[in-house]
Amino acid sequence: MQGPPTLKISEIFFSAEGEGGRQGEPTIFIRLTGCNLRCDFCDTKYAWDEGKETNQKIIYSKVVVIKERYKTNWVSLTGGEPLLQDIRPLVDRLKRAGFKIQIETNGTKPLNFLVDWLTVSPKPPDFFSTQSCRRQATEAKLVVTKNLKLAEIEKVRREFPARTVIWLQPESNEDWSYRRGWRLFQLAAKTGLKNVRLGCQLHKIYSLR
Ligand code: SF4
Repeated sequence: MQGPPTLKISEIFFSAEGEGGRQGEPTIFIRLTGCNLRCDFCDTKYAWDEGKETNQKIIYSKVVVIKERYKTNWVSLTGGEPLLQDIRPLVDRLKRAGFKIQIETNGTKPLNFLVDWLTVSPKPPDFFSTQSCRRQATEAKLVVTKNLKLAEIEKVRREFPARTVIWLQPESNEDWSYRRGWRLFQLAAKTGLKNVRLGCQLHKIYSLR
């Protein structure tokens, strides 16, 4: 019988979750290769193409080896864009072994299975996301670029469920982006937008991956 498809993987590593509501938690990251977008502010451009086709059993074994060293149950599938590949068999296997699954996606592809934590990061210029991603989103993350406007935060707030936290996250922790994020945060609060929070990239502050 044929096993699950191989996945093209950029890297598998242990670190602290750097962003959003799980910030600071010990996490095993599986970074998948490939993205359907080409954001100029992308800080993982190396994951657009670089990577190796890897058997899902081997990926699982690598995660288990890391867990033997760092006793965390959280696995984050990130990219690139993890929903471009058939990650479902790997997710099922990890869940059966008791891992908690976070997916970090740009939200442009459908998600047809349940995860424990879904981070959706809609991207400019249209900030499009699929209904299935929005429905399950724990949080939505907006990178504070030079062009991010209040109207775009309002659009994302309208589209996502009220319980979904919207994070304003500075682009690569740049000073100008912190300042812009703070200004947009104040505007959002003045407008009465609910559940909008100001964030930062912890892994960059600590120089982690
Ligand atoms: S969606 Fe994410 S991984 Fe893809 S290009 Fe944009 S920032 Fe990079």
